[in-house]
Amino acid sequence: MNDNAMIAVTDLTKRYAGRTAVAGISFTVARGEIVGLLGPNGAGKSTTMRILSCFLPATSGTVRVSGFDVFRQSEEVRRRIGYMPENNPLYPEMRVQEYLKFRARLKGLNWRRSRERLGTVMEQCGLTEVGRRIIGQLSKGYKQRVGLADALVHEPELIILDEPTLGLDPHQIRAVRQLIKSLAQKHTVLISTHILPEAEMTCNRMLIMFDGKILAADTPDNLQRLMAGGSQIIAEIAAPADELREALSQMPGIEQFNVSPCEGEFQRCALTPRDGYDLRPAIFALALERGWIMRELTRSRHSLEDIYVQVTKPTEEEDGE
Ligand code: ATP
Repeated sequence: MNDNAMIAVTDLTKRYAGRTAVAGISFTVARGEIVGLLGPNGAGKSTTMRILSCFLPATSGTVRVSGFDVFRQSEEVRRRIGYMPENNPLYPEMRVQEYLKFRARLKGLNWRRSRERLGTVMEQCGLTEVGRRIIGQLSKGYKQRVGLADALVHEPELIILDEPTLGLDPHQIRAVRQLIKSLAQKHTVLISTHILPEAEMTCNRMLIMFDGKILAADTPDNLQRLMAGGSQIIAEIAAPADELREALSQMPGIEQFNVSPCEGEFQRCALTPRDGYDLRPAIFALALERGWIMRELTRSRHSLEDIYVQVTKPTEEEDGE
């Protein structure tokens, strides 16, 4: 087990009456990472986050946050976590400033420190202008920012955000994503979402969760590479077809290729790489070395959506049930 991990989850299971929401998952999150927990509704993301944040006991397994056990040392863990639940419960009748100060005091900050932090998080979350407004009268985007400010006010090492952009308009989404990215420098962030581009844009690593299990865990790039077997490189090069075929057949990274003539001296090459290898630098170098003119070099990449659908699709056995 990595002692330096911010989150270390081993064999975590959560059963509700008659239903397994989390089925023996294990993962670690290193300090400073922004990790996305990605999965469709009901995958078990919120349940996992609630256990990590000490809001829900697990059925079995161990969870450590910054080296502390969430079951036995929950006070230590809570101090280090800022958690923003889905449908963040705020006090609608309180003013923004008043609420955040109250939350800071509740989290154990002394009067002076809570004043200091209040100013910082209000600025960080773009709340300075609405400090005196009543929470219940704010737009959804601003309420979400208040939730974020609440999660940040005690300067936690780890920030856990459950669907932070749910229900926001595109401008608000952009602002919240920007804010999450800015947190990365100082904090570790675990964020759940069922929106792929969101995970792709904000996270260094993604855990794809489905039906209580983690099906894949990697960087967005690596997940794409994993699937790149079926992707193609297209190159249009002005060269004698025979010479071009001969050169391509010598390249070890190419699984298959097809060369067909297009206008003038140009040949259109469709190349299938071996093991997701990115052939573009080698193709570029080839054209340069031979003095061939190249007018196109592109890679058709699988979108994360393809990957997501692929890893979360039911197996034939399950289909048949
Ligand atoms: P969503 O994005 O819809 O919130 P999720 O990935 O966060 O989905 P969870 O909320 O963790 O998923 O739910 C996982 C499973 O556990 C679901 O099938 C859900 O119905 C079930 N579940 C969650 N909370 C409870 C509860 N309190 N009692 C019984 N079953 C529950």
